Amino acid sequence: MAVNPRASLELIPDNCTSCMLCIRACPVWCLGLDAHLEVTQDGGRRRSSLHLDRFAIDYRTCMMCGLCVDICPFDALRWSDGLPPVQFEWEHGGSG
Ligand code: SF4
Ligand code: SF4
Repeated sequence: MAVNPRASLELIPDNCTSCMLCIRACPVWCLGLDAHLEVTQDGGRRRSSLHLDRFAIDYRTCMMCGLCVDICPFDALRWSDGLPPVQFEWEHGGSG
């Protein structure tokens, strides 16, 4: 049986900056994420950055259009040949 190289989406959590571009690009709103802001002091400067807590893909409505993969500037989403679950959910500190 032929393998479909675009059977599902794969998240690379370490690359995700929670920029929300994929969330806004998805035409059917099947992506969701939660993130929190962390503020650090670097010498005299305060730096703030978002950290990903949860990323979800609802495959019941995903059309596999690939807009989210194409728009991600950080290569945090890519195609996978693995069969998709109904709902993919990654959580910080979780097993996924
Ligand atoms: S492949 Fe298309 S429909 Fe599926 S999550 Fe990405 S943008 Fe949304
Ligand atoms: S576009 Fe990429 S970096 Fe931005 S939230 Fe989506 S997966 Fe994360």
